[in-house]
Amino acid sequence: MPYQFCIYTNQQNGLQSFHPKGYRLAYGIIAAPSGRATQVHMIIRRAYRYRFYPNQQQRIQLAQTFGSCRFVYNWALRLRTDAYYQHQKKMSYKETSNQLTSLKKNPDFGWLKEVTAVPLQQALRHLNTAFLNFFRGQTKYPKFKKKRNKQSATYASNAFKWDGEKLTLAKMKSPLKIRWHRHFRGIPTTVTVSKDSANRYFVSFSVEEEIQQLHQNDEQVAIDLGITDVIVTSKGFSSGNPKYYRKYEKKLAKLQKGLARKEKGSKNRDKARLKVAKLHAKIADCRQDFLNKLTIQLIRENQVVITESLAVKNMIKNHKLAKAIADVAWGELIRQLDYKASWFGRILIQVDRFFPSSKRCHACGHILDKLPLEIREWDCVCGSHNLRDYNAALNLLAVGRTVLAYGDTSVGDTALAISRQVSSK
Ligand SMILES: [Zn+2]
Repeated sequence: MPYQFCIYTNQQNGLQSFHPKGYRLAYGIIAAPSGRATQVHMIIRRAYRYRFYPNQQQRIQLAQTFGSCRFVYNWALRLRTDAYYQHQKKMSYKETSNQLTSLKKNPDFGWLKEVTAVPLQQALRHLNTAFLNFFRGQTKYPKFKKKRNKQSATYASNAFKWDGEKLTLAKMKSPLKIRWHRHFRGIPTTVTVSKDSANRYFVSFSVEEEIQQLHQNDEQVAIDLGITDVIVTSKGFSSGNPKYYRKYEKKLAKLQKGLARKEKGSKNRDKARLKVAKLHAKIADCRQDFLNKLTIQLIRENQVVITESLAVKNMIKNHKLAKAIADVAWGELIRQLDYKASWFGRILIQVDRFFPSSKRCHACGHILDKLPLEIREWDCVCGSHNLRDYNAALNLLAVGRTVLAYGDTSVGDTALAISRQVSSK
């Protein structure tokens, strides 16, 4: 994930957030209180991530730090789980922190003192956040961290030196060798170093930054999510689906076959696993790049972006389709639209209710009984020739506009009925 973010909104600046029944509306500017368009500055926290290349000594120090963080995280997870099961007690961050202090005094765990204390504390904080999210019902129960997965360690500002050009972590003699592909302004509050399963090292600076929002415009667009085209918009734009999916698919299958044939626990198996991980990383990077360009364009050009929510999309999806690939791309696309909309003062509307977007003719409102997935275009009784995805996007636009105009509306059909009235005016 290239960005982590947290939004501080200022309600007095005309920023609104509301949740009409059945629809989710992301925050954004609808209108300034006076009705005039105003320029809003927003303070956001965002992360800038770079690849870096540790030297031999740094690699050893990082391995030790990652290992200790993982140990502390897993140890505290066990502690909190036991406390809950054995005593029906919820342990706080502070209690785990006190227990860690005693643990470090135990000579058997003296090696914990060899690494900087700050990332260990941060591991406890991360666990605490994981528990908070779990108690809020947002995530599953926290899991143990494994050595083979991504490793990370977070340094608070008292555990690194940053002079605007060079980053030196606590206990390290020399600064990290970072590949700078872009610059950031501001002072980093925390720094997270990580190593992924393809053995690549990354450093992520968490920075508070002021963003100047885009000027408001009157453009509205609805997007239909798909496989042949990742998106088709109500303006008739089709994104296509970049070739790298197909380009790397065969290669990936071949590598995975190779991996399966290697003996378990062998050196060759490790090598094969690394190859698979590297290709996965490459595909993920390409996809991320494609989605970033797509979402920033949608957000720049349009004041309002309307999409179906993923829950709805999954409901009507054909299971034979490349499910995993589609899920990741759609989920990430909506996530990017969501935070970019909030950054730049745009509105994202996610229609949460099912309505027959593909089967309904956008021109006359006639609804087909059936529309098999392989049918890409159809002729309506009214004479309109409908391209499947484009027609769906136009219907979505109508529903989204109704949501905007009326706020709370009831389910799909009523919204469509109202939208028909609106468009005939
Ligand atoms: Zn029609």
